[in-house]
Amino acid sequence: GWQLVLSTVLVFALVGSFIYLLWTINRQNKLAIMHKTFVNNMTHELKTPVATVMAAIEAVQRYGAKDDSVRMEKYLDLSRKELDHLSQMIERVLHFDMNGANGVKLEFTNFDVIKLINTCIETAKISLQKDVRFSLTSTFQPVFVDADEAHIKNVISNLIDNAIKYSVENVDIVISIVERNKDVEIRIRDNGLGIEPIYHKDIFDRFFRVPTGNLYSVKGFGLGLAYVKQVIEQHDGFIEVESALEKGTTFIISLPKSNI
Ligand code: ADP
Repeated sequence: GWQLVLSTVLVFALVGSFIYLLWTINRQNKLAIMHKTFVNNMTHELKTPVATVMAAIEAVQRYGAKDDSVRMEKYLDLSRKELDHLSQMIERVLHFDMNGANGVKLEFTNFDVIKLINTCIETAKISLQKDVRFSLTSTFQPVFVDADEAHIKNVISNLIDNAIKYSVENVDIVISIVERNKDVEIRIRDNGLGIEPIYHKDIFDRFFRVPTGNLYSVKGFGLGLAYVKQVIEQHDGFIEVESALEKGTTFIISLPKSNI
């Protein structure tokens, strides 16, 4: 009778509330951990350049470097580089946070992706601190797309930077472009640390970093891939990852091909 219906409904409501409670707690925990990691990374990333510049200034003011033009030049150069890096990081965090909710603002133009990727490779080569080989192949060229050139440049640079960051030595970065129906598919492959499949979904979340990343003291905020995904999706494209631990990683992005 109705008692049975009522008690069934009650039981479902109770079980439902309980599951919801567990889910909320779990989510809160995850957020708390992510927040803590972010603050840790942030502190580390911001403190290092500040400490370096402070030391350089002290060297000049207190330890007589200002009377030695060679040392003076060296400290100024160092300070400049550190401040450059610092401002880039601040820019990244602010930029992403401000635009996070509504996405980024896109300005479409028509350009050749191969040319853009070559520029990204040349830029990456400037500050290399390990042995890296790049190769770029395409089944057709030029590869025109209608897209926001500045943001796509950031996307490619981010993926190349990661490929370098998360690889140890004798780094091989293979970039290939293929045409798939109406899309241009860009693959960026590295032979680095790789990512365990259980993390493949999370790496695109803001502030998420694979815990093992820290083992290699690789720096970062966990914002790069969230930004990359956002930009690609706003272009009606998609991004995927293929990776296994110690086997390297491939990021695949696809963009609609230009009609022109
Ligand atoms: P960040 O590099 O600042 O941590 P990202 O959002 O760019 O942030 O990447 C998120 C995480 O995904 C990284 O912390 C790292 O663990 C993992 N990851 C990204 N790219 C690679 C790669 N090419 N190889 C291995 N792991 C990667």
